[in-house]
Amino acid sequence: MGHSNARQSAVAAVTAWKSNGSRVPALAKGIVEYYGTNVFSDKVMQERLPDKVYKALRDTIKKGAPLDGTVADSVAEAMRDWAIEKGATHYTHWFQPMTGLTAEKHDSFLAPNDNGEAILEFSGKELVRGEPDASSFPSGGIRATFEARGYTAWDPTSPAFILENPNGTILCIPTAFCSWTGEALDKKTPLLRSIEALSKQAVRVLKLFGSKSTQVSTTAGPEQEYFLIDKNFYHARPDLINAGRTLFGAKPPKGQEMEDHYFGAIPERVLACMLESEQELYKLAVPVKTRHNEVAPSQYELAPIFESANIATDHNMLVMETMKRVADRYGLTLLLHEKPFAGVNGSGKHLNWSMSDDEGNNLLKPGDTPHDNAQFLVFLAAVIKAVSKHGDLLRAAIATPANDHRLGANEAPPAIISIFLGDMLQDIIDQIEKGGAKSTKAGGTMQIGVTILPTLPRDAGDRNRTSPFAFTGNKFEFRAVGSSQSIAGPQVVLNTIVAETLDEIATHLEAAIKAGKDFNTEIQAMLPKIIAESKKVIFNGDGYSAAWHAEAEKRGLPNKRNCVDSLPDLITPKSIALFCKYGVFSERELHSRYEILLENYIKTINIEAGLTSQIATKQILPASLRYQAEVALSISAVKAAAGDAAVPSTQKAILADLTKTIDELYTAIGKLNAAVDHHAEGDSLSHAKYSRDVIIPAMNAVRTAADKLESTVADDLWPLPTYQEMLFIK
Ligand code: ADP
Ligand code: MG
Repeated sequence: MGHSNARQSAVAAVTAWKSNGSRVPALAKGIVEYYGTNVFSDKVMQERLPDKVYKALRDTIKKGAPLDGTVADSVAEAMRDWAIEKGATHYTHWFQPMTGLTAEKHDSFLAPNDNGEAILEFSGKELVRGEPDASSFPSGGIRATFEARGYTAWDPTSPAFILENPNGTILCIPTAFCSWTGEALDKKTPLLRSIEALSKQAVRVLKLFGSKSTQVSTTAGPEQEYFLIDKNFYHARPDLINAGRTLFGAKPPKGQEMEDHYFGAIPERVLACMLESEQELYKLAVPVKTRHNEVAPSQYELAPIFESANIATDHNMLVMETMKRVADRYGLTLLLHEKPFAGVNGSGKHLNWSMSDDEGNNLLKPGDTPHDNAQFLVFLAAVIKAVSKHGDLLRAAIATPANDHRLGANEAPPAIISIFLGDMLQDIIDQIEKGGAKSTKAGGTMQIGVTILPTLPRDAGDRNRTSPFAFTGNKFEFRAVGSSQSIAGPQVVLNTIVAETLDEIATHLEAAIKAGKDFNTEIQAMLPKIIAESKKVIFNGDGYSAAWHAEAEKRGLPNKRNCVDSLPDLITPKSIALFCKYGVFSERELHSRYEILLENYIKTINIEAGLTSQIATKQILPASLRYQAEVALSISAVKAAAGDAAVPSTQKAILADLTKTIDELYTAIGKLNAAVDHHAEGDSLSHAKYSRDVIIPAMNAVRTAADKLESTVADDLWPLPTYQEMLFIK
């Protein structure tokens, strides 16, 4: 498809799009009426399950009690009836393999009987366990193809839901996915393990403060950034279709420099699409709260209200899938890639994270009473110490080839993991370190004991967009997470590293109390030590500045600039000891994740390289040669008509320039092809290094020449929709 086709149809689509004037039926009702209607919720369970079954299931959901088989049968029956009433013909175990996406394999409820008729069946066994062929999912060597068995296991803590389609509906059952040998092959299993690990240690610490909580849950609120562009443009860009990002494209005269998009009025088609997405999400009980324009043209954000970690993670997957599906209905394409367009901001996913006890008290909320504040400072110190010790793991949790384009590129936090606390908290931390805080910045006296601690201000800090890990009043915000990423991985790391420091704190304090020491005195002695050993990770200044990079190096903070440098941190003895100790990953599972992530890197770069070569060879080069011929032809025409002297030297210069750039392009393509054909020796890490050090520079060289041609070749010959068109025609 030529450029004019794509552009004209996109423009036509944009021009022709109009609201059909009638609202989607559900939208005509109030949100509360359809909120959660497609969820097998607590309320539905209470209504439909026998009392005993409901109670048993609640114990499993709330307290992690094991589930017995008769309960499953009863739940399955109720679930089936409910789903059939909602129009379901099929069910699927819905899981999150290491592709980073979700997977589903549908089975119908149908069971033919001897009379040649059929009944609808769904047993407890089918609810609890599925057996998809696992051989085609990434396993990082855990499972060879000949032992293809993989199991999905019902996760009763995340409610089943209905997926709608114009031609029917499907009952979706959230599940974990593991190998025959019980090793995790998915993102959910380690997340659940890490939630449990953190809970166990946090409960020990809380108990010391007199709490009766038996469970601590982690909470997550992922702010989702994304782009929406016209579908016609998308279909005319093989790079967007296959790599999710543009591999070519000259910088448009106007980018985001006018700062006129952020929080701007949302175009009607886009807003209509958002409204319908949100409506779909409300039916699934996803508590979508905020929407706004983001910094880059055609970039937007959606933020939900936070939920408990496991559900928030499932819901974020549903958010991404639902928005993608609904965008299509509006002639739009959703781009979740971390960097779809060079030169304008990429997309991230701010992961807001905290912990709360079983009464719903946020453990990172500075309290109203001194007692709460001492507890708050202990949990705060635990997080600071965890990040200081395991910044390398947090970095690895966000290491993807796509995120490499953002981190450290002055639009996203740097690859150096540091903590932003804000002035107020920093001041308190400084005083604690000096041996007991005496006053807050605002004045007044203060001591880190349960007795005389003052109220801490709730909004304990200004904003700092440049910090990868910022305290924002009552939670931490991990800002370096990529937009397309599952939030499971970053949470697994956070939960586990904080579990470790809470474990250390609890062990220390428990021993002290046993030895008859005073609790408050012990806390006052312990906090300064933690701060002193961890403060290197605290940085409240400009994370984008060169000065910080130098300072961070002096402090000994790791700066892993790319995926390939960062991923090996997953399999260091430190990492293996940590994850094994808390039962989150076995050594084999860690190695498998490491292999999967490296393979993903290698494959991604290979696909991008192949696309670069193909688009350059089959679209950009031919267009450039045609234009070259036109210029040459016009020179000979002038020459024929008026003689050589009449041909302006500038016109010859155009031809010479063009010829030179075409030559550059052709040469660069040749080098790229050679780089791709040459297979590196050795293990995955050396392959990945080869991709990074040889293939990526070769791709960049092709792009440089191609983008130069884009700004020279006649517009009507240019085959690809331009940045200007994709970002601004909407
Ligand atoms: P901010 O202004 O700091 O961005 P918001 O209140 O807008 O704060 O919240 C941003 C995101 O953080 C939302 O998704 C919100 O639900 C989430 N959030 C708020 N409190 C918590 C918490 N205790 N745990 C996890 N996420 C939270
Ligand atoms: Mg925020």
